[in-house]
Amino acid sequence: MTRIVIVEDEIDIASVVQDYLRHVGYETEHFTDGQSALERIVASPPDLTLLDIMLPRLDGIEVLRRAREHTAHPIIMLTARIEEVDRLLGLELGADDYVCKPFSPRELVARVRAVLRRTAPGNVAGKVPGQAPQGDAPGLVLDDVHWRASLEGTPLNLTRREFGLLQVLSRHPGRIFSRARLLELAYDDTVDVTERAIDSHVKNLRRKLGAVSPSHDWIRSVYGVGFAWEAPPQG
Ligand code: CA
Repeated sequence: MTRIVIVEDEIDIASVVQDYLRHVGYETEHFTDGQSALERIVASPPDLTLLDIMLPRLDGIEVLRRAREHTAHPIIMLTARIEEVDRLLGLELGADDYVCKPFSPRELVARVRAVLRRTAPGNVAGKVPGQAPQGDAPGLVLDDVHWRASLEGTPLNLTRREFGLLQVLSRHPGRIFSRARLLELAYDDTVDVTERAIDSHVKNLRRKLGAVSPSHDWIRSVYGVGFAWEAPPQG
């Protein structure tokens, strides 16, 4: 069953949201402060989190930032201040979407469904025409359900976007992807993502892979074109 964590200190809002989500078949857990929500999210990442920003103990931005060090599951921010949206998206904090308060519960449910759909496991790899996706590269383990990856047994702590890039690249070794193609395949929404942002996500991904396995450069830059996954030589 799809489990959704709701982090919202306004009990009235939370209970309406909870009713609607349960009504359409989701399992929900509710937290009224940032700290206990964070502990739960990290210990057991749900399928999706709805995260209010103004929260007691630890605000939503901080919960998001810390959660992203451990999990890449989809997180939708709830914000009462439209001016916060730019910050949410611009800072590359890793929120998957946002909903402005006041929202209608119907709208929220629609947004939850959309985010779950576009971040569904296996959604990414199946979209590359002309080449069946391969399994995980040697030493690399991708957990498509929780968006977690490890290399040689070491967790990589990727953001959702880094994970998406890793999925597309590593499952099509040797294939060169343009930035535009990666934007289309590895990113759920392209609203705030520029091709330059891809470069910085690739750079971060490379750094994280390199920290575990410094002797091999996993992602090859193809000058003027894009990037390709470079499997290490066998043996
Ligand atoms: Ca609040």
